[in-house]
Amino acid sequence: MRLPRRLLTPPPAAVRRASSGSAGAVSFVPACSTTDRRSVERLQDFVSRASRLFVISGAGLSTESGIPDYRSEGVGLYARTDRRPMQHAEFVRSAKSRQRYWARNFVGWPQFSSRQPNSAHEALRKWEQRGKLHWLVTQNVDALHSKTGHERLTELHGCAHRVLCLGCGDISPRTELQTRFVALNPDWRAQTGEVAPDGDVFIEDELVLNFRVPSCENCGGVLKPEVTFFGDTVNKGTVQFVHDRLGESDAVLVVGSSLQVYSGYRFLLAAGDRKMPVAIVNIGSTRADHLAELKVIGRCAEVLSVMRPL
Ligand SMILES: [Zn+2]
Repeated sequence: MRLPRRLLTPPPAAVRRASSGSAGAVSFVPACSTTDRRSVERLQDFVSRASRLFVISGAGLSTESGIPDYRSEGVGLYARTDRRPMQHAEFVRSAKSRQRYWARNFVGWPQFSSRQPNSAHEALRKWEQRGKLHWLVTQNVDALHSKTGHERLTELHGCAHRVLCLGCGDISPRTELQTRFVALNPDWRAQTGEVAPDGDVFIEDELVLNFRVPSCENCGGVLKPEVTFFGDTVNKGTVQFVHDRLGESDAVLVVGSSLQVYSGYRFLLAAGDRKMPVAIVNIGSTRADHLAELKVIGRCAEVLSVMRPL
């Protein structure tokens, strides 16, 4: 499937004040009034009734760990800047674009890779350990679920902590590439700016021209983050695998995703076809609101961490 280009269109310019917290981690979380207790109790009932829960997580989970999202009103990257994520075709076609991408990614890496899971990630990991959560599908590429030790996990759009060779298909850790970048660019320096959801930061083009990008050590091929860029397709085998896990589940919970991208939304459509109960925890509206029997408006960490043990 193809991630639609129209999703790259920025939202209306209306900018609302972000949530009142002053810490960096909070500043990427959209404004939200306190979640009402009644809806949290209903979510508790929903989760208690499920014995094999299928969970889809998105950027809303990571904003609470200090990683901005693209689409949140007022605080998302689209609302605040004119930066847009890398397009797959451009990355493959243009050595210059790859150089710019990797230079920026190199600068953003120390901050991006140091982000830690929050209490929502931890809550989902506990549900997995207790056998409540059957499968977790994340649209995030920040490895925050795997940092909690989550095992029953599919990273639908890959993970920025892995690097793929487009020539031989070799997968290597992103940390190794950082070492190679440093070795190839001993005198190259750039200030760290704001880090995007995929680890991207802004750097002047002039600086980028001097940045040297290594190729695959096995075959000399082009290196790319093992991430599904916009305009690329999610592997068919992965999609089928997730559909199979959905088929084994008895309820669906969406946490921190507006489901604007079809690659995640398709599983909600499948859940609808199967008449599975669906609940959603998100600050803003989602594409699947009409499919949900329960919608909790609130911050993921706040909502999931106050739920009683199951
Ligand atoms: Zn290779």
